[in-house]
Amino acid sequence: MKGIRSLVLDVDSTLTALEGIDWLAAQRGGTIAEYVAGLTDQAMSGKLILDEVFELRLAAVRPSRNDIERLADAYLKSISPGAPEAIRAIRVAGIRIVLVSGGIREAILPLASMLEIPGSDLHAVGISFDEAGEMAGFDRLTPLSHQHGKRMVVEGLSLPRPTMVVGDGATDLEMRAAVDCFVAFTGVVRREAIVKQADVAVDSFSELMELVLG
Ligand SMILES: [Mg+2]
Repeated sequence: MKGIRSLVLDVDSTLTALEGIDWLAAQRGGTIAEYVAGLTDQAMSGKLILDEVFELRLAAVRPSRNDIERLADAYLKSISPGAPEAIRAIRVAGIRIVLVSGGIREAILPLASMLEIPGSDLHAVGISFDEAGEMAGFDRLTPLSHQHGKRMVVEGLSLPRPTMVVGDGATDLEMRAAVDCFVAFTGVVRREAIVKQADVAVDSFSELMELVLG
């Protein structure tokens, strides 16, 4: 689809090969890891709504400041192949790029910075820490912990049209009503329920770049 003027990218399992909350849960080991990964999978495949799992997952993991710094490193190491090059080329073509994620903002900021995406174009869920560096809470006012939150954020941004959204999960698909083209990203996880409702599917960033720039 040539001629798009803005591109909205999901982060977890799209821009990076990780699900941040699952990565954090894996650090806690066995039972918590299985519990959290199970909730994530059900939410991203559309079997549970995000509202039902968001706080449960965070309460099970309670990431410290140190955990978030380590996740930020893991995100940088897990960036999808070809993504930096594709993002650079798409930006050079004059297309506005924003990240919209249900992940933790503090963990994604270094990745956004590496991709030269300003903090004001990263929309994710902020968390706060106490003096000991333990999690104190999360931004309860953000729509992004809710099923329709990504769509609400995109509607509020008034991005230049046509707008394309790229993501792997059910909360990405929710944005379809607010944009002109929904692309299912299958390079990390392929969810048939999402692919079926997508305008098109791509399995790599080089394929996405081809789709956007032709
Ligand atoms: Mg995702």
